[in-house]
Amino acid sequence: MSFYEVIKKYSYEYVKDLIYNADEKYIKNALYKEKLTEKDLAYLLSPKSESYLEEMAEISHNITLQRFGKTIRIYAPIYLSNFCTNSCIYCGFNRKNSIPRVALSLDSIKKEAEIVASSGIKNIILVTGDNMKKFSFDMLLQSVKLCTEYFPFISIEVPSLTFEQYEELHNAGADGLTMFQETYIENLYPAFHPTGPKADYLYRLETPEKAAQAGMRSIGLGSLLGLTDYRIDTFYMCLHAEYLSKKYWRSHISSSFPRIRHAAGEYKPEYNVSDKNLLQLIFAYRMFLHDAGINISTREPAVLRDKLIYLGATIMSAGSKTEPGGYSAAQDDAAQFSIEDNRSVEEFCSAVKKLGFDPVLKDWDNSMQGTNFAK
Ligand code: SF4
Repeated sequence: MSFYEVIKKYSYEYVKDLIYNADEKYIKNALYKEKLTEKDLAYLLSPKSESYLEEMAEISHNITLQRFGKTIRIYAPIYLSNFCTNSCIYCGFNRKNSIPRVALSLDSIKKEAEIVASSGIKNIILVTGDNMKKFSFDMLLQSVKLCTEYFPFISIEVPSLTFEQYEELHNAGADGLTMFQETYIENLYPAFHPTGPKADYLYRLETPEKAAQAGMRSIGLGSLLGLTDYRIDTFYMCLHAEYLSKKYWRSHISSSFPRIRHAAGEYKPEYNVSDKNLLQLIFAYRMFLHDAGINISTREPAVLRDKLIYLGATIMSAGSKTEPGGYSAAQDDAAQFSIEDNRSVEEFCSAVKKLGFDPVLKDWDNSMQGTNFAK
């Protein structure tokens, strides 16, 4: 059964009813279950469950400690190009925004890689907008190869590609894919993605599977919080993470919880997601999926990120720049969105240590490649 068939079983109205008419007794029951059902997940995402946030925080903390220990895996993004043919209405790289457009050369990518590597970071994610004329697949492939000289773990966040392309990238050294669906609610998706290749909801929905089939060890999901009813969208994202974890058990599945940030275009989200709302979504996710990663990026402010180190985060970015060439020369008006936590990698690592956790800058080595399941 495809994931599309799975979510078709959970109509918007059905999920909305579960979430907004959750019964207190079912919420209490869900709180102390070892294995949650889909209905339990919906109850924990309900407004009524906000009264149990402290209990949920404690459970989330305990599960994360059991499964991940006191470690936080650190990474940084390297933006390669901000050219884009899409017009996602919330994104600074939207083709209609007049921002400085840059596609890095291999020399510039090398400079960025050297700077990021010198901060101690060994896990990176290479990010591009969606414009294969300005930044081709071959350039992406060469960028991955170049970055293997500096980083043992390379992930990509790029336009939807084919299975064969993921396989080629994986063979070149890319081991992870991040692909946010932005919203799982099919009839709302077109309004946020009016033109360009990303307008194809189903093609995007099925893309993470292609990367898993190609052998990528790490798959990252996310819905952009604020676009739609974030409780309902998080429900679907949890189902997606569960589906992929079961079907592609060789890949580690993680999710991000990005809230919309200020970006060129000045998009104003319809839904305001408070810190409390965000925490509830993260705790419900953790209680539903004990082994999935939780990625909290520098979109979030330092105070909240520090809290989440303790309450469930497993992967966090640090010292990030969200524009191409940003590590060599900051150019804020070319950025995808603004950063809230501006601490350096060193400052962030010492904050992690102060909380009694270990910042893990490198957790994989290519010398272990023989153990790569995909080969
Ligand atoms: S979200 Fe991605 S595809 Fe959409 S405009 Fe931004 S960079 Fe382009």
